Amino acid sequence: MGQIKLNQVTKSFGDVQVIPPLDLTIEEGEFAVFVGPSGCGKSTLLRLIAGLEDVTTGHIEIDGRDVTNVQPAQRGLAMVFQSYALYPHMSVRKNIAFPLRMAGMDEAEQKKRVERAASVLNLTDYLDRRPGQLSGGQRQRVAIGRAIVREPAAFLFDEPLSNLDAALRHGMRMEIGELHQSLATTMIYVTHDQVEAMTMADKIVVLRAGVIEQVGSPLELYRSPRNLFVAGFIGSPT
Ligand code: ADP
Ligand code: MG
Repeated sequence: MGQIKLNQVTKSFGDVQVIPPLDLTIEEGEFAVFVGPSGCGKSTLLRLIAGLEDVTTGHIEIDGRDVTNVQPAQRGLAMVFQSYALYPHMSVRKNIAFPLRMAGMDEAEQKKRVERAASVLNLTDYLDRRPGQLSGGQRQRVAIGRAIVREPAAFLFDEPLSNLDAALRHGMRMEIGELHQSLATTMIYVTHDQVEAMTMADKIVVLRAGVIEQVGSPLELYRSPRNLFVAGFIGSPT
């Protein structure tokens, strides 16, 4: 579960085409990082996959199913945003269970999933606290917990750490990496930070002005950048 395929996808806003025809496959279980300078289309691409924006032309498949016209909630994906909107008056437990409660899942199954997510995220001791009693990193984990309980086919992260300070960012990078290891679920992670891309990715997708400049493992990109833009961005010796 969790293969994502873009076939000749384009996106225009009005007369401006920000994504020219683009093909890309993210394999099941892969940790893919979209990297590139500000305004290159990383968020747009992620939002197209999530269904938060409609493609102008082309098709998107998830596990072989055409989801181009499928509503976001029915795509089986979980999007983790940079600003984590938790409910301040609810306990951590209730915050994490929120999407399950909305879906009308029975209480016993909700409890099981929340406790499993809390255990993966080291939040077991914090389930009865309110978000205001947690650190920034713990709050970010609660937001991720809310995504985990839905057991998505893939997680989509849009610069989730950019509001955190350097030390916390380092810790969260490690935690997201561990989360990927333990869940073995496809993750797409957007960042403009080369260090994040190089340290976290199985596969890096380098974007410039909506165009994929190169796709490869961190080592492949470092050793064999296709052009000066990729070399400069990845920090290869030239
Ligand atoms: P990134 O996330 O890489 O910084 P974005 O995907 O946010 O880039 O933006 C890519 C391009 O699309 C930019 O030129 C941006 O101005 C434009 N864009 C993004 N969203 C919209 C929108 N809703 N309306 C018009 N232009 C947009
Ligand atoms: Mg963005």
